[in-house]
Amino acid sequence: MNPVGVVRNDCTDPAQAMQMQDAESVILVDEAFADALHMIDSCEYLDVVFHFHLPETGGRTKTGTETGAGSESRTEPETGAEGRWRRTTRSGEVRGVFASRAPVRPNPIGITTVRLVGRDGNRLRVTGLDAVDGTPVLDIKSCNTSHLDDTPCGASNHIHTSLLKSNPRLAIQRYIMAGDTEKLLIMAAQFHGHYCPGLAMGVMAAVHAMQELDRDNADPDSVTDDAKPAETGGEKASGPASDGLEDLLAIVETNNCFADGVQLVTGCSFGNNSLIFEDLGKTAFTLTRRDGNGVRVISRHESPAYVREAFPEFDRHYQRVVRDQVRDDAAVAAFRKSGAERSFGTLNLDFDRMFDVQRVRVDVPDYAPSHESGVCAKCGDSVMATRMVDGGDVSTRDTDASTRGPDTPARNPDASTRGPDTPATTAENRKLCLKCAGKPYSVLDGHGIRILDG
Ligand SMILES: [Zn+2]
Ligand SMILES: [Zn+2]
Repeated sequence: MNPVGVVRNDCTDPAQAMQMQDAESVILVDEAFADALHMIDSCEYLDVVFHFHLPETGGRTKTGTETGAGSESRTEPETGAEGRWRRTTRSGEVRGVFASRAPVRPNPIGITTVRLVGRDGNRLRVTGLDAVDGTPVLDIKSCNTSHLDDTPCGASNHIHTSLLKSNPRLAIQRYIMAGDTEKLLIMAAQFHGHYCPGLAMGVMAAVHAMQELDRDNADPDSVTDDAKPAETGGEKASGPASDGLEDLLAIVETNNCFADGVQLVTGCSFGNNSLIFEDLGKTAFTLTRRDGNGVRVISRHESPAYVREAFPEFDRHYQRVVRDQVRDDAAVAAFRKSGAERSFGTLNLDFDRMFDVQRVRVDVPDYAPSHESGVCAKCGDSVMATRMVDGGDVSTRDTDASTRGPDTPARNPDASTRGPDTPATTAENRKLCLKCAGKPYSVLDGHGIRILDG
């Protein structure tokens, strides 16, 4: 193995290396690996793999310490009273080396999670490193503890919390790559409110599409020229990225339970402008990158019957509780339980019997524009400029606002939106929200998209 860098700090005594953890060390990365540092600043924690290179053992032959200090005898360890690969730790406990961080190990390799506090070019300033000055560094990796935290959106330790702060979708990405639709259904239900087969189908369809786009990215040659992503640059993706910045778009063709499974898994949501709604009433959605190479997943018309036949119990409970209005605790509990069983069970049904998958070309819209906001002269609400209209002759209606308290913005069309020289409100410069202006506006509700008269 060839070192990629070296540790620089004030510590020369391996026995003191644990105390060293509080102080700053520098990892001097070889110039040859400069491009390997790309984006490293986004990592708060790193795993540093290093070589216990010192020939002497720092006075710790038979009983290693818990420190993982940067010193190791390359000679075979003596067989002490504890056994060849057992050591007495500082706390007096006997442990096998694989159950401890003792530096005397079958291979002289140390690994420590450190905090990256700063970077000057190829000099990484870190804390937490327990290696002496001059220790050869074999590798540096972004730290990933997502496997330690199985609670769907919990964060059980500080390192994991920190990772989630830099990538909130870390666990979701991992579950997608692993095809763990059960975990994703739980997360989707936290958003959706209940378990149902429709939500499960949304999760299944979205996981399939995310994996398919990720495979394209990983292996552009496997894609036909027609459907080849333009910007793969030959780099393998680390997982299906969805940063909520419209680089990945989902087009859903229904506004029911299915759409919520799609939103959770793809990260394309109503709020981040990456979700497009086509009011077509089809249990289908398309996932596309900005290059317009998309995957459309559509529910086969047989799939509802397939789900019902696989889990027949649910219909009986549904009949009792929902149709016949039997609402005793036992009946409701049985209804919920069979609903969850059918939802989770749906995840294990044959994907190809449930869905058809198509490669499609998508006309990708431009990035959502951002607009200034104004203040409605009547209700005082802050309003996106494109949703305001000229007030015209409705200025006299402002007296309606006299029923408001003295602090409401409506009574103070103030300097925050007007320069100091702006004349007092006139009919010409008054801007109103669509509601106050009595203009029609669009709504999306359980009926689909509708235009409401103002
Ligand atoms: Zn539902
Ligand atoms: Zn208004």
